[in-house]
Amino acid sequence: MKADRGNNKQGKIFVISGPSGSGKTTLLARLIKDRKAGKLLKKSRSVTTRPKRSGEKEGKDYSFVNSQEFKCLLKEKKILEWTRYLGYYYGTPREPLEKQLLDGKSIGLCLDLNGARIIKKLYPARVVTIFIIPPSLHALKERIRGRCRGTDQKEVRERIFLARKELKSSGEFDYRILNQSLPEAIKELKNIFWKETAG
Ligand code: ADP
Ligand code: 5GP
Repeated sequence: MKADRGNNKQGKIFVISGPSGSGKTTLLARLIKDRKAGKLLKKSRSVTTRPKRSGEKEGKDYSFVNSQEFKCLLKEKKILEWTRYLGYYYGTPREPLEKQLLDGKSIGLCLDLNGARIIKKLYPARVVTIFIIPPSLHALKERIRGRCRGTDQKEVRERIFLARKELKSSGEFDYRILNQSLPEAIKELKNIFWKETAG
């Protein structure tokens, strides 16, 4: 198959979804930090119109753009899928994902439910969907607040409101991970990764 450039390994698309604050980004980063997994997997860096949080870095956490720039990227078909979350746009750049797959490697994406559903439809045979479950809504609230001290109460409430809805869809996913103990959750994610990339 041309897409695999002579080797028969097929990269997978690991879509990690779950409520904001459930630990998607943390878990994916920890998986990629693993020396062996990190050679086979990279994170997709989304484009967003959301303002940068303190501690976030342009080009590392996201590519931060304005609405006009985002619309241009859409028009130029550079965005594979996109969503609107709490009034901001978020999208997955097409080219890095396609390149990673062409190289026979895997890619990890942290997406909302819309994105997970779209990517599953686009690449049914290659996608592995994983839903991260927080221990409780209370813990989720604390994690959202703890992640960025400047997050205002209204935004926390909106994210928790969406989380209640998102949690009802966990059954759609191939795997579910309860992220209570971080080391346990990382272990589970690593097991899924190796199970899905073996062979
Ligand atoms: P998401 O990407 O799902 O929005 P993050 O990965 O940004 O969530 O995690 C939200 C916050 O919760 C971060 O400050 C992170 O360090 C923290 N966190 C993640 N997993 C755990 C855990 N198991 N126990 C305690 N805190 C956690
Ligand atoms: P946050 O503002 O917390 O960084 O992201 C809000 C939500 O948007 C999270 O559920 C996150 O996973 C999701 N998200 C981030 N980037 C993308 C993307 O490119 N596409 C989609 N569909 N969702 C995204």
